[in-house]
Amino acid sequence: MAEKRDYYEVLGVSKSASADEIKKAYRALAKKYHPDANPGDKTAEAKFKEASEAYAVLSDPDKKKAYDTYGHAAFDPNSAAGAASGFGGFDFGSMDFSDIFEDLFGSAFGGGFSGFSSYGGRRDSRPRQGDSIRTRISITFDEAMKGCTKQVTIPYLEECSSCHGTGAKAGTSPVTCSRCGGRGQVAVKQRTPFGMMQSVSTCPECNGTGQVIKEKCGSCNGTGYNKTNKTFEVTIPAGIDNGQSVRLSGKGNPGENGGSRGDLLVAVSVAQHPILKRQGINIYSTVSIDYPTAVLGGETKVKTADGDVMLTIKPGTQSDVKMRLKGKGVPQLRNPKMRGDQIVTVVVNVPTNLTKEQKTALENYRATLSNN
Ligand SMILES: [Zn+2]
Ligand SMILES: [Zn+2]
Repeated sequence: MAEKRDYYEVLGVSKSASADEIKKAYRALAKKYHPDANPGDKTAEAKFKEASEAYAVLSDPDKKKAYDTYGHAAFDPNSAAGAASGFGGFDFGSMDFSDIFEDLFGSAFGGGFSGFSSYGGRRDSRPRQGDSIRTRISITFDEAMKGCTKQVTIPYLEECSSCHGTGAKAGTSPVTCSRCGGRGQVAVKQRTPFGMMQSVSTCPECNGTGQVIKEKCGSCNGTGYNKTNKTFEVTIPAGIDNGQSVRLSGKGNPGENGGSRGDLLVAVSVAQHPILKRQGINIYSTVSIDYPTAVLGGETKVKTADGDVMLTIKPGTQSDVKMRLKGKGVPQLRNPKMRGDQIVTVVVNVPTNLTKEQKTALENYRATLSNN
């Protein structure tokens, strides 16, 4: 994508321009480049869109302030400035520029342009998938290792059982819109700043759906959906890591104009284990052994995700030696039979508070060292 031009430069005004000057500058550009004044002219359309976006920002005191402080980054969801401005992810693509027009030129002028549909105006009649619902659950370290099934209860728009989602009163059905004949669009002739124009507009009767409800369903008030709390069972695979999400397809919000439902995304928080620390597919832990075991060898008990195991300590084991327990790590999400390893750091305990007997034994040992 080409570098975005400075909004002030786009409108041809100085940074100190007043709200009136900004409005005037945009008005002139909008007249000049409006798609209906330049049918089929892609450059004009681009310029119109660029000017509208600049005006949308500079005419709004809060957005203008964010832009003056951070520049274009103020509206970038991936930047720190976007996060700081509160406008990160502000979606110009889905802006309904007709609002700006109603504001500037009066309502007769708003909404009646063929160009608007391409800007994703809110009266778009295309099927649109519903939004995703996000929720979060917490599980234990062991549940993450073995996999588990959890229930989540979320506010949910359930299809109305009286009208089966049509929004029409029981026994009736939505009927084809008489105004647009079911096409969802109507031709409008209107006086505009460019003279009389004919353009295609979203049908105001049916909002572009092509169908109207004569008698609304009483139990959902014609919306086709009822708000409920719904419980879903979530299967969490073994090996899931803290922060990963499980997707339940089609359990999100209903779509529009016949679009499918969005998804339910369940983010999983995995509690920390007091001893076992996960890193990727491996688990790390520390075990302490006493001094004689380090010297003479022996066994020590080690906690693993599968329970306690006995670890053989070779004679002469140094402190901080790392030992690998193959296959005691985290199961791989795609193939739970494949597991990482557990890496155990062995720490030798230096004895304190020795009894007289123990002290004597050690001193005897030391004496043998100095004789060499
Ligand atoms: Zn209903
Ligand atoms: Zn209609």
